[in-house]
Formats: sequence, structure tokens, C-alpha cells
Amino acid sequence: MAAMVLIYNAGGVEVHDVKPLRHVITMLHRGVARVLEAVDGEAFGPYQRPRSVELVRYVYARWRYERTVPATYSFKGVLRRDGYTCAYCGGPATTIDHVVPRCQQGPSTWTNSVAACRTCNERKGGRTPEEAGMPLLWAPTQPGARTVHRRHAVA
Ligand SMILES: [Zn+2]
Repeated sequence: MAAMVLIYNAGGVEVHDVKPLRHVITMLHRGVARVLEAVDGEAFGPYQRPRSVELVRYVYARWRYERTVPATYSFKGVLRRDGYTCAYCGGPATTIDHVVPRCQQGPSTWTNSVAACRTCNERKGGRTPEEAGMPLLWAPTQPGARTVHRRHAVA
């Protein structure tokens, strides 16, 4: 695993993020962060190797990130967004279903995908929910990145 570095918001009190060392070095390079605590005696190019860094400017990041950064579409992401719950029967889901099926040119997008159990997925087949008589329990939405992407736990 890559070495992780704590990133504090400006002020050095509130943890803002945790990123791999390599990413943090690019932040130092861009002048958006400065070293807060260094690892004694270890240099990293022109910088002391940081144990933690501090953002130069205060960032109100998390909620803004959630609202403005759309998550990248993925199979796992759809399952996470829907809490691994089948959108047709409410049971545990292990597959994803294209609401408008691929054979009817349904796209692989957040709003055309729901988590589904294998039974419902097979029962629905190449039909829309209307055609199959299987109404969705909820409408699929475009989630923000934080809902879907794993984040490193910060103690
Ligand atoms: Zn189901």
C-alpha cells in the first residue's frame, strides 16, 4: 500500500483528506499545501517527506464535492448507491439491471441502472419495467462521488 499522508485544512486542526504521498507531493509542488509535520531526516526531492500537510487556503470541501462531482458510473457503484438492494423486490441484490434493456438501446448510465437480484433480473429479461409488469421501487438517480467511492477512514 502506498504511504498515506494526512491533509489538514488551513489552520491545521481539521482533517480534510488522506491521500497517497505521491499525490501530496504534487500538492506541495503546486503550492496548494505546505508541510505540517515532516518525517525526520527524510527528504523527498526538494521537500521534507511529509507526515501531514496543511492546505494553504481553507476549503469547504466535503459537501461541495458531494454536490458538484458526479460519481463515475460503475457496476459496483450502482450496487452501493442502491445499498445492494433489489429495485424490484427489495431483496439482496448482486447484479445490476438496465431499466431500458441494452437490447432496446438502453444506455449504461446511472439513471438507467438499478441494483437487482438475480431472480428479478432474469425474470425481467430484455423488457422495460412496464413491459415486464415489474415497477421500480425507486427511481434511479445520479449520485455524488462521496456516496459511491470508498473513502479512507480518518481516525
Ligand atoms: Zn429482486
